[in-house]
Amino acid sequence: MTRVFIIMLFVLAAVEVNAQEAEREKIRTIELQKEQEKSRYVRQQMDSGIFYMNQEKYELADSKLRYALSNLKSIPSDLAFYFGKNSYFLGKYKQSVDWLTKYIQLKGTTGQYSTEAAQWLKMAEKELVAEHASQSQNAVEVLSRDYTIDCGPAGRVSCPVCSGSTVIIRKDYLHGETYRTCPYCNKVGTLSCEDYNKLLRGELKPASN
Ligand SMILES: [Zn+2]
Repeated sequence: MTRVFIIMLFVLAAVEVNAQEAEREKIRTIELQKEQEKSRYVRQQMDSGIFYMNQEKYELADSKLRYALSNLKSIPSDLAFYFGKNSYFLGKYKQSVDWLTKYIQLKGTTGQYSTEAAQWLKMAEKELVAEHASQSQNAVEVLSRDYTIDCGPAGRVSCPVCSGSTVIIRKDYLHGETYRTCPYCNKVGTLSCEDYNKLLRGELKPASN
């Protein structure tokens, strides 16, 4: 009699554990769905930002793209491109150069928008030089170092310090050209996404030798 009772207790406990597990699973599913809905919405905002940019409604495009910047955990390369391009139209040339450079760093010359990005970058740099000359600068700009950049499926980026060559060449009046191993990419010419983001924030420490 006692044995049966104990077995029944075990069974009840097991049922209880199962019910709790099922409840947790349900909550996890709901949270996941919420997350997916949110990211769908953010993606929609980004797409409508691109749409408005193409409609030459640059301010509206800016607010949509900035919403996407602020609500994505890491920034996809195409958003860097579109935000950089739209920044050009807004006359925010430093911001434009910053994000277009980021796109090119991430995608190299073979990205979907690499050619276009290089063209806009060249124009933005020209405007930036002119702006520096006339000393009129935009006070507040949204710069990429404040965001975590998504490096794509490869998860590595060509080292921007040595352009992937692993060597830094310094031209010096006294010594001519001197060669030094790039202290950032550990002789491989690429950075992990984590290190790349640290570099952007100025937090990546160079190796001492
Ligand atoms: Zn390097």
